[in-house]
Amino acid sequence: MSDKKEYALFGNPVAHSLSPKLHNSAFTALNYNAHYSLIELKDGSKLRETFISKNLAGANVTVPYKEVVYSMCDSVSGVASEIGAVNTIIKNEDKLVGYNSDALGFYNSLPKEKYKTALVIGAGGTAKTIVTILLKNEISVTVVNRSRDKLKYFKNLGIECFTADNFNSNTGYELIINATSAGLSDSALPLSKDKLKLASREAKLMYDVVYNKKTPFLSLAKELGLRYQDGSDMLLRQAVYANMLFTGYDDSKKLYEIMKLAIV
Ligand code: NDP
Repeated sequence: MSDKKEYALFGNPVAHSLSPKLHNSAFTALNYNAHYSLIELKDGSKLRETFISKNLAGANVTVPYKEVVYSMCDSVSGVASEIGAVNTIIKNEDKLVGYNSDALGFYNSLPKEKYKTALVIGAGGTAKTIVTILLKNEISVTVVNRSRDKLKYFKNLGIECFTADNFNSNTGYELIINATSAGLSDSALPLSKDKLKLASREAKLMYDVVYNKKTPFLSLAKELGLRYQDGSDMLLRQAVYANMLFTGYDDSKKLYEIMKLAIV
């Protein structure tokens, strides 16, 4: 039997993913005998049994299974337990341990500045991850979302929340984050242009989690003469932290260089 370790990305869809390129390039550079593939899963309830039947050593999990997999892990480590979402699984002596590398990936992708206030637009899984890590770093957060339902989670944490219709920006924010999928496959702004203009009057950075696309949100930031950034560095960094969990390699800077080269 081969002693090659197998890793995979679970999600639906996954065909577009850069993860195999990122992780396989790292495995090769580190001389780590492993292979990373894609598993498109139609039924999320089958994730644990698929992981085990394929004899995986670890995996990443993407949309729409990051929350469902949380309860399938035998234990959950670090910030993942606060977020309630897992994007990395490691098999440790037949137990599945869940982690969340998106949070650190996002936070370490921010330009090194001191931010005191942030406006997070969106209330889905990515917004939860971002809000958790911002609060941990003592940044005051306000959340605004198109509809009301998903705001409950943030209200229960004592965070100031608004629906887009009710949001009136009396103050500016230093960090404005589009954590929605607006602009991903349409030409929508996540919030009206007027509201974005008002909210960004003290902005040091306009950040869009969508990657490899100049979204209307980023175009507006440019028009306003503000610094802006898309989600590609977040994507790269979450892969770096996941790979460190897979391989045990501890030089994040070197892994970042290796993985970045794989996708330019
Ligand atoms: P969810 O489906 O959990 O949430 C989507 C959110 O976007 C909801 O708050 C929804 O509002 C809002 N939304 C969708 N369309 C619009 C619109 N036209 N106008 C205003 N709000 C809108 O998605 P995720 O949180 O999982 O993902 C969000 C984005 O983050 C995706 O584009 C994904 O690709 C990106 N992402 C990037 C990563 C990276 O590494 N860069 C990592 C993970 C995700 P409502 O509640 O009203 O429906």
